[in-house]
Amino acid sequence: MADETQNDRPRTWEEVLKRSSAATAPDGAIPAMRDGLRALSDLALEEIRAADTLAGLKELRDHYLGRKRGQIKGGLAYIPKLPSEVRSELGGLLNASKRQLEAAVREREKDLSASRAAAAPSIDITLPGRAPPLGSLHPITRTIRDIAQSFARLGFSWVSGPEVESAKYNFDGLNISEGHPARDREENFMISSEVLLRTQTSTVQVRVMESRRPPLRIIAPGRVYRPDTVDATHHFMFHQVEGLMVDRDVTFRDLKTVLGIFARDLFGPEALIRLRPSFFPFTEPSAEMDVSCAFCDGKGCSVCKGTGWIEMAGCGMVDPSVFEFAGIDPDEHSGFAFGLGVDRITMIRYQIKDIRLFTENDVRFLAQF
Ligand SMILES: [Zn+2]
Repeated sequence: MADETQNDRPRTWEEVLKRSSAATAPDGAIPAMRDGLRALSDLALEEIRAADTLAGLKELRDHYLGRKRGQIKGGLAYIPKLPSEVRSELGGLLNASKRQLEAAVREREKDLSASRAAAAPSIDITLPGRAPPLGSLHPITRTIRDIAQSFARLGFSWVSGPEVESAKYNFDGLNISEGHPARDREENFMISSEVLLRTQTSTVQVRVMESRRPPLRIIAPGRVYRPDTVDATHHFMFHQVEGLMVDRDVTFRDLKTVLGIFARDLFGPEALIRLRPSFFPFTEPSAEMDVSCAFCDGKGCSVCKGTGWIEMAGCGMVDPSVFEFAGIDPDEHSGFAFGLGVDRITMIRYQIKDIRLFTENDVRFLAQF
């Protein structure tokens, strides 16, 4: 119905003019033009007020009020052709219509701009930005870095070695001869008869002694592999930090001093260490190093299983046969080596009860560090 009404009304000056010329009644042309102009003006006003986008409104303004081809302009341009007695009336009609339409366009423009601003997502540029989520260092990495920092103060540098290792460095160079139970195929991840995943970071001390001359002070952090059944305290992949010092006149006392400094760095100034006799093929004499339990101050608790001490490392004086394998004269040089269990140290530092958490990549666990 709206369409019919609109179709009845002229939308262009051309139509107004056509209707005016078609008027048959005597002196009908001028009244028809007057009616046509009023109808055109009314239609224009309705359309402008109903415009629902700024682009649509601009089109309407160009159509009716355009400076060159606008309908009002067309009408005004025709005024001089009219009989003089009606020029002023129709000219006045057109000018009044022009002002009314211009006002309507301005008003509609304001409304549409306001609602568009309201609909747009508001951005408050004064709010602080959202920080992207940052990862954190894995607790194992933190522990290794702390251990490295402690030994760096004592002049130990960080050396890396391969995880896929030959039997030469994993066994032969460490005085683990053919037939030793540690060489059983079931005890190792064998890749071929002579290549395996290293079972200890001690491999790196053989490589270092072979390629450098004393004095030597190195640590070698890294992953090691043994086919253990995985449970809360065992894993087939874990971490060690190997340490080696070789010089003239290095004694067991130096070993104890260095490990004591390390224990106090990592576990606090109250930490004590003790050394218990032990056996390793590549050190002589050998010892297990324990640290006083920081959870109970040595009184005994579940972490230290009631003993007041926590096992931390294997260590000892480098066996002469290891020196000989690497081409270092054991009569001229002496040294000590130790191997720290990084996973165990990390579990104690952060009170982690299950070693499997280290490799499960659960962000809820990792985000705590
Ligand atoms: Zn304890």
